[in-house]
Amino acid sequence: RDLGLREPELLRDRAFVAGTWVESPSDGRITVNDPFDGSEIADLPSLGVDAVRLAIDVAHREQKAWAARPARERATVLKKWFDLIVENCDDLALILTREQGKPLSEARGEILANANYIEWFAEEAKRVDGDVIAAPLSEQRHLVLKQPVGTCAAITPWNFPNGMITRKAGPAFAAGCSMVLKPASQTPLSALALAYLAQKAGIPDGLFSVVTGPARAIGEEFCSNPKIAKISFTGSTEVGRWLMERGAAQIKRLSLELGGNAPFIVFDDADVDIAVEGAIASKFRNAGQTCVCANRLYVQEGILPAFSAALAKRVSEFRLGNGSDPGTRQGPLIDGKAVAKIEEHIEDALSKGAVVLTGGRRSELGGNFFEPTVMTGVTQQMKVAKEETFAPLAPLISFSSESEVVAMANDTEYGLASYFFTKDYARVWRMAEALEAGMVGVNTGLIGSEAAPFGGVKQSGLGREGSKYGISEYLEIKYVCLAGI
Ligand code: ADP
Repeated sequence: RDLGLREPELLRDRAFVAGTWVESPSDGRITVNDPFDGSEIADLPSLGVDAVRLAIDVAHREQKAWAARPARERATVLKKWFDLIVENCDDLALILTREQGKPLSEARGEILANANYIEWFAEEAKRVDGDVIAAPLSEQRHLVLKQPVGTCAAITPWNFPNGMITRKAGPAFAAGCSMVLKPASQTPLSALALAYLAQKAGIPDGLFSVVTGPARAIGEEFCSNPKIAKISFTGSTEVGRWLMERGAAQIKRLSLELGGNAPFIVFDDADVDIAVEGAIASKFRNAGQTCVCANRLYVQEGILPAFSAALAKRVSEFRLGNGSDPGTRQGPLIDGKAVAKIEEHIEDALSKGAVVLTGGRRSELGGNFFEPTVMTGVTQQMKVAKEETFAPLAPLISFSSESEVVAMANDTEYGLASYFFTKDYARVWRMAEALEAGMVGVNTGLIGSEAAPFGGVKQSGLGREGSKYGISEYLEIKYVCLAGI
């Protein structure tokens, strides 16, 4: 269990409840395994509902004092947290790679890019301005106050075990909220390491708890505990829908960042090299396990031969291996279920006439490794075009006209990311407006940043993370009517 950390304390073996690192001998255990070889990295308490309730009670109490502190003080603590994350980035990356599998360079990228949300919202904390509205009656004045929502619950997934936390906790603490976090059971160690640094940075004890345990029971508690004002969730549409249903009884505020089925469109007039780079960045980052991953690649007939050949060549050169080895380009998938899903999608496509250009099989490395795959001859009727594959599979669908590709791209209940490549500026406008998605990448496969609003339309979610819009997810508007003036 020696991960070779410079600061061994970052590898926690307890949950973090109300400012205390707790064991829970009477409840069950969670073991965290390395997806590279299945070996056990850590063993953690699986908390019962009592511990979760305690975390919520204390977070609820601490929130008031935190919100009462001047924004500048909250910002100072958040900046310190940001600095500690950056300082400890190499250790945090080792922990992340061991529990999740992605290459170390990607782990570092995830940590630094998402720590930026903490710094960004530390700055935004100071600019939560109210408003004075021109009142329709001369003896009245209308004011708008912005106040923190209160105690928030966060539920995060395994694909970005570090980054999905900072982009929620940053704006929440900046706005004056408290937070109880339930990380994914496959990857709780990054969350606990972040909590350790938060405590060091001066986030008050109890303002932030990390509860490890059974998802369903903790989710039930978050939805039914009246002290939780808001739930921020990143994960599957199915669980998002469940939280909405359960939260309905108490009209819980919700931010939901759910599944996607991103179209990636290459027009004949695109630059082939830029489009291939974009496809690799968008499709194969984290072995295809990101919610903004290109899921369906629509390629116009004229450019299809050049694009497919160049993409297949690049992809066939990927080095698979242990994420901790510096030369690794693609790590293992998270688990056997993920491998079964890509296999199912490939089999379905092959049975309906698609062709594999490269990959298509489990890797010789065994375990959860799957060869990065490019397929051509794919159609809208195949599973790969309808469901999120969440794996390293690029299915190429040919198209002839702009209107045809817009109809195919929008033919989904999802609307998270979308991408297209063209040099025609008029088409850039038309397409950006026509695509039913919360985010559109034009001539790029990488769109995320702390300065941009991240989120989806349709069944991909509610709300936005990041940017000047992001903090409003953690604020309520209060209208004050002053009369008798
Ligand atoms: P994935 O397919 O990425 O695992 P999930 O939506 O199942 O997506 O999981 C995302 C997060 O939601 C994880 O932290 C998981 O433990 C949690 N989760 C799963 N089911 C529930 C539930 N019923 N209530 C609350 N959280 C849940």
